[in-house]
Amino acid sequence: MKSYDVAECGAPLKLFERPTPKPTGSEVLLRVLAAGVCHSDIHIWEGHYDLGGGKKLKLTERGVKLPLTMGHETVGEVIALGPEAPTVGPGGVKIGDKRLVFPWLGCGSCAVCQRGEEQLCLAPRFLGVFRNGGYADHIVVPHARYLLDIGNLKPVEAAPYACSGLTAFGALKRIGPVLKDEPVVVIGAGGLGLMCLGLLKAMGGKGAIVVDTDPGKRAAALKAGALAAIDGAAPDAAKQLSAAAPSGVWAVIDFVGATSTAKLAVDGLTKGGKLVIVGLFGGDITLPLPFIPMRAMTIQGSYVGSLAEAKELLDLVKRTRPPSIPITTHALDAADATLQALRAGKVIGRAVLTP
Ligand code: NAD
Ligand code: ZN
Repeated sequence: MKSYDVAECGAPLKLFERPTPKPTGSEVLLRVLAAGVCHSDIHIWEGHYDLGGGKKLKLTERGVKLPLTMGHETVGEVIALGPEAPTVGPGGVKIGDKRLVFPWLGCGSCAVCQRGEEQLCLAPRFLGVFRNGGYADHIVVPHARYLLDIGNLKPVEAAPYACSGLTAFGALKRIGPVLKDEPVVVIGAGGLGLMCLGLLKAMGGKGAIVVDTDPGKRAAALKAGALAAIDGAAPDAAKQLSAAAPSGVWAVIDFVGATSTAKLAVDGLTKGGKLVIVGLFGGDITLPLPFIPMRAMTIQGSYVGSLAEAKELLDLVKRTRPPSIPITTHALDAADATLQALRAGKVIGRAVLTP
């Protein structure tokens, strides 16, 4: 099998050719049909997160080992099953099935995993982060229960639901019912932000006010139905935001998570408002503590979503068929160039590798 791996942080992805694995135990081997390129892969490739004040969190301190095949938005076709892989009943798979891979695997045995929150496990086995993922022509998944039926969605359209879709869905759920009555401020109209616009509509949302520094992304957001699109770098961005939300900013999802965006969000929230931080661009903020109780604000982090939420999301998508985000497809051999194009801000929507 062939894969493009991070062999060294900051260096071009390297082609590896290894024997195609034979699934053992409950494992399932899939031929990769589509692998989305997420901005999180850029953070992994760079090798650190920016903690602000010159501090960095290194990926190796998080337990990431190189070489690593990234790719956590994968759709594949089942081509081989381990002897203990279920073939019948709910969760069973057979040769030829096309499935979305849920990549946010925990250890499977701790209390958190038993509660169905594997994405929060302290011993994660995330595919494409701690174990090899989808920037390859084959992928091994430890158990068929992580393989989700995509119905008649196209593989390239379904792949981004494993991360951008699930993460946006999870963040919208943290907002709660207020999204039906008030616009949600969506900061960052990249893969996740654009996905959020479609899902917000599918969930009966009132609409979104988008903030992005890139005019191309703002245009894409307006095309996807945003109520307004504000340049986050404009000196009067905060003023524009309050003008666009005359009944106050009740909910913000920050898909950037940088100092400037978190500050815009915190300053903009009305009494009782909520900020959900998703993006990992990094930095830090200082916040006067009395404001938290006095303005009754909530600041919440959101990390991908659970297996149950992924199933709920796919059901919603199959039922309501929200318009797909713009998707461009690229050969597996262009994995490195595609990652670099995303890093340079040149991708509108999602770039998906199709081995
Ligand atoms: P992307 O590159 O597709 O989009 C990022 C968008 O943010 C672009 O439109 C860009 O123009 C905009 N942007 C950048 N800096 C900005 C600023 N200062 N102000 C306003 N807009 C700005 O990225 P993506 O794949 O959508 O991922 C977004 C972030 O979410 C990344 O940091 C990624 O690692 C993170 N992420 C988090 C989770 C989670 O579970 N918390 C899951 C997936 C991705
Ligand atoms: Zn991702």
